[in-house]
Amino acid sequence: MKQRPSFPVRMPASNAPTGKPMPAGTGPATVVKTLGAKRGHPLGGADAALAAPVPSGLGMDSSAVRASMVRKLAESGVGDAQVLAAMGQVPRHQFVDSALVTQAYEDTSLPIGLGQTISKPSVVARMIELLRQGALLQANGLMGRVLEIGTGCGYQAAVLSCVASEVYSIERLRGLHDKARDNLRPMRLPNVHLLFGDGMLGYAKGAPYAAIIAAAGGEAVPQAWLDQLAVGGRVIAPTVTAHGQQALLVIDKTSQGLRQQQLEPVHFVPLKSGIA
Ligand code: SAH
Repeated sequence: MKQRPSFPVRMPASNAPTGKPMPAGTGPATVVKTLGAKRGHPLGGADAALAAPVPSGLGMDSSAVRASMVRKLAESGVGDAQVLAAMGQVPRHQFVDSALVTQAYEDTSLPIGLGQTISKPSVVARMIELLRQGALLQANGLMGRVLEIGTGCGYQAAVLSCVASEVYSIERLRGLHDKARDNLRPMRLPNVHLLFGDGMLGYAKGAPYAAIIAAAGGEAVPQAWLDQLAVGGRVIAPTVTAHGQQALLVIDKTSQGLRQQQLEPVHFVPLKSGIA
């Protein structure tokens, strides 16, 4: 049995935020923080997520507008009840700037700073549904350890935390890594582990993963992800196709080898190497 990292861990001096950047693409990601107390899912049950104040502009109760978003997702073909429940639990408006709060439950991507975007809800739901269809599931129906490349504002990591036992989410931009930590802190999700580093290298300490999901599109799926995927697991990643467009690529690791499918076209921000 592989040794799992314990949390939180002290940052090695070479990764400490001294203002002196690590050379791009060197060194593994550093686990900075796990987010909260133990037991149960804090976003589940009696709308614990809504205990935090709802920003003005969204009315007093965001659950109704979120329920309407979930209804539309179901109508558009998302059929996985666990995914729909997760989308209904995570307060998306708490992940976007206050000026954008009124758009938080529309099916649109939104800017999150540093030129990056939060994916639109239908894409998040579709990708996690696809992930669950091919990932290793535990007896309780949850995926085991999941690696997310591209934490961004942390929204998708929070959704994943509802459908996976552990979520390792890695971000290459320090500013967004910090923003995600701030966004997620009040939600106290004990199974979300935020990492700062180059996700193209994966995160070997958490491997093997039941599933790996990329929120940024690359030229190809990095070998590290395939190496760190468990047999029986699935990678889903926006990837450039032979025609120069981006499409969702699904790769299953079976005991007979890798099986690959190319699905619908998508538009994700680029997967970049190194940290910044
Ligand atoms: N899942 C995010 C979406 C963020 S957009 C959310 O819910 O908000 C994609 C993110 O991928 C960007 O923040 C970008 O900086 C990040 N990214 C791109 N290449 C990366 C890499 N090699 N490693 C880690 N993150 C990367």
